[in-house]
Amino acid sequence: MDIIENQTDDKSELIYKPESSTFSGNQLKIIPTNPNYEPSTEQQKGAIKYLATIFSKNEISSVLTKNVEFIDSGENFESVNCNLCGQTIEIENWQEVMDKAYQTSFSDLTFLTPCCHKMTSLNDLEYDLPMGFSKYVIELIDPDINDDQNIDLTKNLKEILGQDIKLIWAHY
Ligand SMILES: [Zn+2]
Repeated sequence: MDIIENQTDDKSELIYKPESSTFSGNQLKIIPTNPNYEPSTEQQKGAIKYLATIFSKNEISSVLTKNVEFIDSGENFESVNCNLCGQTIEIENWQEVMDKAYQTSFSDLTFLTPCCHKMTSLNDLEYDLPMGFSKYVIELIDPDINDDQNIDLTKNLKEILGQDIKLIWAHY
């Protein structure tokens, strides 16, 4: 199996790109729940090899960046709720916290909630479309996937990467 390796100062990438791969606006992004987690090169290769056995016709990339990045779903989300008390957080409030976190290159995602006045993390809020923050992301282009596979992926990748993971479906 051919895996292309790209390395720059800011990120390292491993890409599996079969000739049959197609481009599509649908992507599955897989991230660890811990934004700062950095899997070893061996773990990253293990993840790609595992995914390539299931999605042999799809392009798969594994990207580790120097800083934590916002991993979005490509579409504007409509609501975000506090993970502690469940109340809606106004988008303007959220945007303000995002701007502050951005200034620290997302190294600090914590903030005091406007609703229940407790500390939480931008990464833990409940978005109506799942998204998150991470240094590490695996992207699968246009995978055909069912619910059972969803569960297997989550379980098997957790074993390979040594971390709980989160699936983010993105549409562009
Ligand atoms: Zn709250």
